[in-house]
Amino acid sequence: MRACNCRPRPGQASTVTPISEDRPTDRVDRLATAAPSLSGAVPVNERAKGGGSAVAPPLENPTPPPVAPTSAAGFLDSILETKSELFRGSREVLRDSYIPSRLPHREQQIRAVAEVLAPALRGDVPSNLLLYGKIGTGKTAVVSQVVQDIQRRTELASHVAFVYVNCGNIDTPYSLLQNIANTFAKTESDRIPTGWSLDRVQAAMRRLMEANGGIVILVLDEIDRLVARSGDGVLYTLSQINTELELARMVLLGISNDLKFTHQLDARVRSRLNEEKILFPPYDALQLQDILRDRAKEAFRDGVVDPGVVERCAAYAALENGDARRALALLRLSAEMAERDRAKRITPDHVVKAKNRLEQDIILDCCRTLPPHCKVLLYAILQACERRRTGVLTGEVYDAYRRLAERLGLQPLHARSISNYVSELESLGLIRATIVSRGRGGRTREILVDVPISDTMPALEEDPLIAPVGRPHSRGQLLLTNFDNPGRTGPF
Ligand code: ADP
Ligand code: MG
Repeated sequence: MRACNCRPRPGQASTVTPISEDRPTDRVDRLATAAPSLSGAVPVNERAKGGGSAVAPPLENPTPPPVAPTSAAGFLDSILETKSELFRGSREVLRDSYIPSRLPHREQQIRAVAEVLAPALRGDVPSNLLLYGKIGTGKTAVVSQVVQDIQRRTELASHVAFVYVNCGNIDTPYSLLQNIANTFAKTESDRIPTGWSLDRVQAAMRRLMEANGGIVILVLDEIDRLVARSGDGVLYTLSQINTELELARMVLLGISNDLKFTHQLDARVRSRLNEEKILFPPYDALQLQDILRDRAKEAFRDGVVDPGVVERCAAYAALENGDARRALALLRLSAEMAERDRAKRITPDHVVKAKNRLEQDIILDCCRTLPPHCKVLLYAILQACERRRTGVLTGEVYDAYRRLAERLGLQPLHARSISNYVSELESLGLIRATIVSRGRGGRTREILVDVPISDTMPALEEDPLIAPVGRPHSRGQLLLTNFDNPGRTGPF
C-alpha cells in the first residue's frame, strides 16, 4: 500500500497533511486506508520460491543472465548495483501513496474542496464535508493536495490543525478517539492509555483540544468502514463536540468509498456530516490513460513503454469501476514483469501477466491491511480450517478468536463486534458462510475460507501482532474452497 509522498501509517492519526514528504512509509494504505491499497509486490511465499518462476519466458533477452550471487547480502548488493533499464529513478512514483503535482480530471473536485475549507484561512469555521465515490477515484489524493496547499500558507499554522485518520485500520470508537486525542498530547503523560472508559477518553480529548485551541479539521478517511463496524455513535459524539468546546472548533471531513453510506446514519448525524458533499465519479478509460501517461513519463525512461501498454492498463481498470489505483498497480507490476523477463521494454503481454498476478496480490494486501482484531479473527479462522481441513461453525468462531486474542495478550472484543467482522470478511470475499443442516439440531452456518490458506497465513504473520503465534511456512497449498472459481463473488 511509499518513500516520497507517503500517507500516514494506517490507523494513526496525524496532525500533518495526510500525504507529505516527511510521512512514514505506509503499506496501505491507504488509506487506505482501505480500503485496501494495491501493491504490485510479489507475495512473500512467491518471493521465497523465486517469484519469477511463474512468468513465461522472456520476449526478448539480449542481456546475459548475471552470475547468481551466493548469499543474501550478495544478492541484495547485485540488485542495488543494477541500474534499472526501465525506471528513471524512484519506483515510488507508481505507488498509490505518491501524490503527483497534477491530478487530471479532478480540477472540479479540488476547487470544491478548497472552497469549503477556505473560510479556515480567515479563521472562520468551515462546514463539515463529505466526499464520496468508489475506491480509486482520487478522494484521498484530492484532500491531500488541498490540505498541503492550505498548509503551505504558513499564517495558518497557528490556528488550523489537520488530523488524518484512516478508519479502515481502526477497530473501535475508543481507539479512534484515543488516536485523535493523542495527536494533541504534548507530553507522554498527556497520552491516553488503553483501558479507560469511553467518557473519560472523550473528556480528555476535549481538554487536549481546548488546550491547543483553533480549528481542527478532522479527516476521517474510509469513514464508511468505521460505521459498518461500530455504528455511528462515535460520529454523533464528534459531530456535536463543538457544543462542549469554547476555545477550539472541530470540522469533520469524511471520505467514503460507499456511495450509500449516509443511508445508515442517524438523521442528526447525517445532516451534520452532510453540510456539504462532493461526488467523485469513476474515471473512464480515456481519463485513466491521461493519469497513467503522466505517471509513466515521470517513472520510466524514454521509449521503454510500448504502444498499447497504457491503453491496456487503463482499459482493465476502467472495467474495475474506473479505479486509478488498480490502473497504477497494473502499470507498476507490468514493469516488474518486464524486469523479471530482463526485457528492455514493457509490452502489452506484460500487462496481461501483471493482471493475473495482481488479482492474487490484492487478496493478500487486503488481509495485511485489516485492523488488528479483524486480523486475529481471520487468523483464528484460518488456523481452525487448516487444522480440521474443513470449515468452522459460526458458534466456534468466537471461541477460536477469543483464545487466540488471549494468547496474544489482547483484550478480546465483544461477540457482537466479532460478528460484524465476520460479515466484513465475508463482504471482502475472504471467507464464505454456507448454511449447513445439523439434523434435529436445526441449521447453522459454516465458515469456509475463500483464500489459499498457505499464502494468507504468512501474509498475516508478517504483522508483529500475529508473529508470536506464527508457524513455519513449509506447508503445501491447502485450498479448501473455490478460490479459483471465476464465478466467486466479492470485490476482487
Ligand atoms: P481513493 O481515495 O478515492 O480510493 P486515491 O486518492 O487513493 O483514491 O487514488 C488512488 C491512486 O490513484 C493514488 O495513487 C492517486 O495518486 C492516483 N490518482 C487518483 N486520481 C488521480 C488523478 N486524477 N490524477 C493522478 N493520479 C490520481
Ligand atoms: Mg482513499
